[in-house]
Amino acid sequence: MLERKKIESQFANSPLTGGGEGFKYDAVAMMPDVKVIKIGGQSVMDRGRAALFPILEEIAAAKDQYKLLLCCGGGTRARHIYAMASDLELPTGILAALGGYVPRQNARMLQMLLAKHGGIYIMHDDFEKLPLYFRLGCIPIMTGMPPFGYWEKPTENGRIPQHRTDAGVFLSAEVLGCKRAIFVKDEAGLFEDDPKKNPKAKHIPRITAQELLKADLPDMILERVVIEYLARARSCHELQIVNGLERGMLTRALAGEDVGTLITKA
Ligand code: ADP
Ligand code: MG
Repeated sequence: MLERKKIESQFANSPLTGGGEGFKYDAVAMMPDVKVIKIGGQSVMDRGRAALFPILEEIAAAKDQYKLLLCCGGGTRARHIYAMASDLELPTGILAALGGYVPRQNARMLQMLLAKHGGIYIMHDDFEKLPLYFRLGCIPIMTGMPPFGYWEKPTENGRIPQHRTDAGVFLSAEVLGCKRAIFVKDEAGLFEDDPKKNPKAKHIPRITAQELLKADLPDMILERVVIEYLARARSCHELQIVNGLERGMLTRALAGEDVGTLITKA
């Protein structure tokens, strides 16, 4: 009789359900010098060329100096799908799968607009090609939506997927080992309330994830789950939100200036 082969390893006899198990977590930062940038869907793309073209000029001017990875938001079309699918009482996973098409459309459009500067559309699992694309002088562009799709996690209220394009951008920076992710939107960063509804709301230049969770603001400029994840991030410790409608802000953020708002892990 052949004996069953036994492989000794730290987890061999563990159901992996105990929590706290495992090696001391020390993550390899695979591409720490990549600048992971979200181009807002509703806040930028939906505003059309008046908002987008000046941002693209800044990106084209910066692309030989930095390794830029662009991730697209969805915006109003995604919201229409969420509203229709909710009305039809479809589950969260369907909403996430359907909503995922819109940021992909935006990423395709962005690629075409940036083609002459090296814009190249990439899929979620193309991360390993990034070093090659950067050597070739490309600007890789992908959807910001994480690939959970039908496997989107249940929500506490309603059925809108919690992990949308802000979450995908943060998670991309986290796996690549980038310390900071940059979100290009249409406000000067985080305010104490939505400045569009409450013009008197005060700007918050810097805040920690814990402080922000505790503040329990009436509305947020980033998806709430991202702040929860930031508090336990291993690599991506800073989320910077800048106003893409203000010329030069993205360029200053790329240069490392703390413009806009910084939401930090600690
Ligand atoms: P994206 O286009 O990246 O998906 P969103 O449109 O989802 O961006 O989010 C940006 C919007 O969030 C801003 O246009 C702003 O009106 C709104 N917002 C809500 N709460 C806040 C807040 N506390 N501070 C700043 N902006 C906020
Ligand atoms: Mg959004």
